[in-house]
Amino acid sequence: MKERARLYSNCRVKTMNPLVLQAEAFLVYGEMIEAVGKNEEVRRHSLAGEAEKIDLEGRRVIPGIIDSHLHFSAWSESKRAVDLSECRSIPEVVEKLSERVSTLPPDAWVRGMHFDHSRFAENRLPDRSDLDAVKNPVLLTRVCYHAHCANSRALEMAGIPGMKDLPGGIQRDGAGNPTGVVLESGANMLFDAFRKGSAGGDDPLEGLSGCMREMASYGVTSINTTSAKHLGIDESFGPYQELERRGELLQRVTIHFNDLLPFGISSFLGSDSIRLGGLKLFADGGFCARTAAMSFDYKGMPGYRGDLNYDPAAFSAIVLEAQAQGVQVAVHAIGDRAIDMVLDAFEAAIASHPRLWLRHRIIHCYIVRPEQAKRMASLRVIGDIQPVFLADEIDIAEAGIPEEVLPISYAWRSLQESGVLIAGSSDCPAALPNPWLGIDAAVNRVRSKERTPVGGWFPEQKLTLDETIALFTRNPAVSLGMGDMTGTIEAGKFADFVVLEDDPWSMPAEDLSKTRVAATFRGGECIFGKI
Ligand SMILES: [Zn+2]
Repeated sequence: MKERARLYSNCRVKTMNPLVLQAEAFLVYGEMIEAVGKNEEVRRHSLAGEAEKIDLEGRRVIPGIIDSHLHFSAWSESKRAVDLSECRSIPEVVEKLSERVSTLPPDAWVRGMHFDHSRFAENRLPDRSDLDAVKNPVLLTRVCYHAHCANSRALEMAGIPGMKDLPGGIQRDGAGNPTGVVLESGANMLFDAFRKGSAGGDDPLEGLSGCMREMASYGVTSINTTSAKHLGIDESFGPYQELERRGELLQRVTIHFNDLLPFGISSFLGSDSIRLGGLKLFADGGFCARTAAMSFDYKGMPGYRGDLNYDPAAFSAIVLEAQAQGVQVAVHAIGDRAIDMVLDAFEAAIASHPRLWLRHRIIHCYIVRPEQAKRMASLRVIGDIQPVFLADEIDIAEAGIPEEVLPISYAWRSLQESGVLIAGSSDCPAALPNPWLGIDAAVNRVRSKERTPVGGWFPEQKLTLDETIALFTRNPAVSLGMGDMTGTIEAGKFADFVVLEDDPWSMPAEDLSKTRVAATFRGGECIFGKI
C-alpha cells in the first residue's frame, strides 16, 4: 500500500522551491515526491501510468507547515488548565478558578493559564491576597510563561513561607513575606509541588495525540518542541516514541533539551520522524515581565535594563562545549543586550570548531540592532520569530520600549534584508498554535482583534505572502537541519504537503487567518481531512 504511486494533477502548487516556484502536478511514490512540474510533464513520468490519479480541481497546494519553536507537552498540559485568556479583571480570574474548584477534591491543585494582566482592569498581576479567595492551591502562569502567581495554600505546599533565603524571582512585600507573584525560575519550587500534587490523572499520551490532530488540521507536518526546565516545561523522547508505536505520531518531531546529551550525541541524531534538535538556552527573560536584557532603559524605568540569565563567560563556555560536540544551540534572546552575549559566544565557538553543517539559532529576536543583524547573517545564525506575538503585543511594546527603539523591534523585513534566514513558529502555548494566525501577523502587522493600526504597525517591516509561506515551510526546515528532507515540494523530498480549501493568494490579506485546510499529508500519508 505504502509503495503506491499517486499522481496529483490540476493543482496550483506553490512549491517554495525558488528554482521552480509554481507547478500544476506532482507524483508521489511511497513517502517521497518523485516528480513536480506541468500536468503533461508529470504525466509522462515512468511511474505515472500505474499511479492512482487524483484531480485536485485547481486547488492550491503548499509544502507541509513547520513550526520551528513550540512547547508541545506544555501545550498538551495547558489544555487541562483553566483558560484565563478571556479574563479582563482579577475577580473574573477568581470566578473562573472557583468554578473549576467546585468540581475538584479539596487538596487538588488548580492550574490557570494564558492570562495577560495588561488586559486586566487592574493592570497588575494577581497576588496571594487575590487568589486566597480560592481554597485549593492555585498556580497561575502568565501567557508568556515568565510570570506566575500563587495563593497562600500553594506557597505553603511548596514550602516557601518561612524560608530564610528565598530564591530570586519570588517577590516579597515590605515585611519580607512572599506576595505570591513569582518571576522566571523563582517558580521551580511551585512547579515541583504542583507536579507532586497532581501526579496520575489523565493519560498524557491522549493529550499529545489530540494536539497532533489539531496541528494536522492547520496543515502542520513538522514541529520543534523544546524543554524549558526553569519554567516548569519539560520534554522527553519517550512519549513521542510511544505515539509512533501506536501509529499516532502525525508530525515529524525534533526536540531541543536544556542539557547536552551523553555519549557525544550530536544534533539531528534520530529518524525522519523523531530526532534530537540540540540545546536550548535562555539568555534573558520576557518582554512582558520586563526581564529581557536591553542595551537601553525601559520606558519609564530609568536605570533598569532587564537582566542577563548568565555571566557571559559562563555562557560562552556552554556554547563552546555544544559546538565541540556538534550540537545546535537555540537561544532564547529578546533584548539586544542578550543578543550581543549570544553572538559573542557563537562567534568564539564557531572559530574554535568550525562546522559548516551546523547553524545556531536565536529564538524571538525582538530587538535587533542593524549591525547585530549583519553579524547574525555572517555567522549564519538563524532568527526564529513568532509573528503572532506582535498581534498581541503592540501596546506592551509601545509602553515599554523607548520610541526611538520601536523601528528596530519585531523588524522582520530588516532581519531578512540583512541576509538573516528567518523561520516562523508559534511558541505555543505562549500563543495559539494555529500557524495561519502567524501568517496573518507577518503579512498584516495589526492588533489581532481590533485590526489596528490600519495599514499595519511599522508597515515597512511587513513580509509578502510568498516570503511568509517560506517563513513557515522552507526556512524552518533549514533551521531544524532538515532542509534536504522537507520544506519544499521537490523531487527527492518527503511528500509533506497541504491541500488548501481556500487560496491565500487570491483572498483578501485581511482574511488569511481564516484559511481552511482541505487535507494534510506527511510522507505521502493523509494525516488530516480528505480530498
Ligand atoms: Zn518558547
